[in-house]
Amino acid sequence: MRILLIEDDDRIREDVCRALEAAGYIVDSEASGEEGWFLGDTEVYGAVVLDLGLPDMDGLTILKKWRREGRDMPVLVLTARGSWSERVEGIDAGADDYLPKPFHIEELLARLRAIVRRTNGQADPTVTVGDAQLDTRQMRLSIKGVPVALSPQEYRLVSFLMLNKGRVVPQQELAEHLQSVHFERESNAVEVLVGRVRRKLSTKLIQTRRGFGYIVEDQAEDI
Ligand code: CA
Repeated sequence: MRILLIEDDDRIREDVCRALEAAGYIVDSEASGEEGWFLGDTEVYGAVVLDLGLPDMDGLTILKKWRREGRDMPVLVLTARGSWSERVEGIDAGADDYLPKPFHIEELLARLRAIVRRTNGQADPTVTVGDAQLDTRQMRLSIKGVPVALSPQEYRLVSFLMLNKGRVVPQQELAEHLQSVHFERESNAVEVLVGRVRRKLSTKLIQTRRGFGYIVEDQAEDI
């Protein structure tokens, strides 16, 4: 899953970026509010971590603009310690959750996982489709209870499809979630990745809807 991080404090931005990448996310990070707003407006993200106090365009303005323009990705807002008015304003502006500074990185990761799950209609940290079970806390996929060894990129693919189970995900959308904005996008990268994951799984978890994209869904009984 691709995350946008907007934070002007270099130390916090670098620490959060590193932790998000270690947790398996693809991260685009920005120190400038203006640049960050533009990325959120033009690219597809699974979630955004947004600092409110930014020098050029402040976080509340960014969030209001996105929501007004119909950008509905989940947003976790970072607020100044003890500032209840910032929290209220943030939530009114369309934030999905907030985290006061200073925070423990583990709490940020947990809140991020929670808003992503809620956005995808999943209250439970595990997602089950047929024989396959995804544990979003341990970032592990099991088939019939047996863990499957996946690379971070392979895990991102499977977890994105499973969190969106029952929906056909266009190839373009998958590509946007799997790659950072700074990487070149190879046209067949998603197909290659899907092929590799399929060979690792003993089930037909990922199905192709030719011309539309990929889908993971609960199987109807064989007739
Ligand atoms: Ca700041």
